[in-house]
Amino acid sequence: MGYLEERRAAKCGIKNTTPEVQKKETKKKGIAPVSKKTAQKKKDYLEKVIPWIKANPICKINFPGCTGKTQGAHHPNGKETLEKLMDLAGCIPACNHCNTAVEQKHAEAVKQGLIGKRNTKTTRYKNTFKK
Ligand SMILES: [Zn+2]
Repeated sequence: MGYLEERRAAKCGIKNTTPEVQKKETKKKGIAPVSKKTAQKKKDYLEKVIPWIKANPICKINFPGCTGKTQGAHHPNGKETLEKLMDLAGCIPACNHCNTAVEQKHAEAVKQGLIGKRNTKTTRYKNTFKK
């Protein structure tokens, strides 16, 4: 199909179904939103956390507005590494409301011992202030 025919087809709203165009359209994939590696990690986590949620159905954080039903695991020690993420032993069953509230009301959560204090280590400036 020539250029002018393509333009005419586009203007008339006719979809071009020549093999060349179909090939072009299938090639357009773009960047994957999640890498295969991350998708696998997510799958592994879900396989582990879903039975855990079923075993711990009641939210134990109980912030004001709590729905009472566990929807996820709150990681008091953070989940920066894969080991920390997968370690559900120290996790607290939480509804989505409470899990969000813990992050938003950080000072209160620290008082209740729901989350570790942030920025306690001064590793960043360790070598800057030598005595
Ligand atoms: Zn809750």
